[in-house]
Amino acid sequence: MEWDVIIVGGGPAGLAAAKYSSKLGLKTLLFEAHSDIRAWKPCGEGVSKETFQTAGIEPKQGIVSNELNMRVYSPSGKYVEIPLHGYAINKDMFLQEMAKEALKAGAEFRVAERVERVLKEGHKVVGVRTAKGEEFKAKVVIGADGYNSVVAKSAGLDNSTELIPVYQYRMVGVDLDSYNTGRIYVGSMAPGGYAWIFPKGEDIANVGIGVRPGAPKVYLDKFIKNRPELFKNAKIMGAGGAAVPIGGLAKEYIGNGVILLGDAAGMVIPFTGAGIHSSIAAGKVVSEVIKEAIEKGDLSAESLSEFNKRYEPWIKRINDSLKAMRVFERIGDNELNQLAEVLDYEDVINLANGINLRKVAMKLMKHPVLAARVAKALL
Ligand SMILES: Cc1cc2nc3c(=O)[nH]c(=O)nc-3n(C[C@H](O)[C@H](O)[C@H](O)COP(=O)(O)OP(=O)(O)OC[C@H]3O[C@@H](n4cnc5c(N)ncnc54)[C@H](O)[C@@H]3O)c2cc1C
Repeated sequence: MEWDVIIVGGGPAGLAAAKYSSKLGLKTLLFEAHSDIRAWKPCGEGVSKETFQTAGIEPKQGIVSNELNMRVYSPSGKYVEIPLHGYAINKDMFLQEMAKEALKAGAEFRVAERVERVLKEGHKVVGVRTAKGEEFKAKVVIGADGYNSVVAKSAGLDNSTELIPVYQYRMVGVDLDSYNTGRIYVGSMAPGGYAWIFPKGEDIANVGIGVRPGAPKVYLDKFIKNRPELFKNAKIMGAGGAAVPIGGLAKEYIGNGVILLGDAAGMVIPFTGAGIHSSIAAGKVVSEVIKEAIEKGDLSAESLSEFNKRYEPWIKRINDSLKAMRVFERIGDNELNQLAEVLDYEDVINLANGINLRKVAMKLMKHPVLAARVAKALL
């Protein structure tokens, strides 16, 4: 039996691809190495409201832990308040809701089955082989198997991009003035990255950090120790580390009969490290591209490259956010403090998401110090 699509990985990217492919009538099989669909990797669990629209699921209570505005703190402690109206989600439930919809639409899942490598005929990927030694044929294989993608390696795709190591605690008893406010801290306490506190309810929060270079756990422990007012009653309930691809799109993510999505392809907004929405959007777009490629009978890399045209708005956001991140990683605490005086919340959103960089740059051009260091680099 030949499947239309085999998807490796049951994270946001793979589940979105499974849902939308099966809705389009494609015979879809998804492999997940773990025994269940869950958020096995640590995650801040902060998403925009639009993420639900793209995923096509309702922001029901349970899937949503609470609504989130955001504050971005400069090293001096001054913050920009962002009325973002995002959500802190329960990622386990979010993923399971997407899985339910994919299964109801006709997709088949094989959980607790790790894919070992892709199968090739000449230069074309034609299926996968599992760690149990079984082989499955497909017209297209989607590698949604994260930044350590075995699909990329075995298909011969160079999916390298810069990774940032991150570490996160789930903490109980964090003393926050509002559990509807997520907090982001930038500056030398998190070199090349940032620290975050995303509340998940009245007395529970995800508290994490990403740093370049260095050991994120060491920086996270220091961050917590230096804020006794927030953490004096807090205890650690869970802990974990991972990496986030923040170097922009991978060098290669499309081959003959194969395409990588999500973290496997560097489809993460570099400045924020947020990859849930962009991964889901990629899963949706790729389903339409594959459907048309199958109808044309052409699953070559060239034909699948239609993905790049349809995913262009996200590619631009990723590229522009990377550009902004590269500027900001070179500036010190003093300049960050000055920026906090000048920027309003719309500027901060634009910078983080790689939107309207020119507008932000023009505003900074009027500042005596920031004009040369930041504004010109953004232009
Ligand atoms: C600490 C941390 C905090 C984060 N916070 C946020 C946040 O607040 N908001 C946000 O938007 N993003 C956040 N991110 C990023 C986000 O989690 C990822 O970008 C997103 O999960 C990527 O989805 P994905 O489907 O590409 O990959 P993953 O979520 O990595 O899913 C890959 C799946 O593939 C499976 N798999 C891997 N190999 C195989 C194999 N060989 N065979 C079968 N299955 C396999 C894995 O078990 C996993 O289920 C965070 C990341 C980290 C590490």
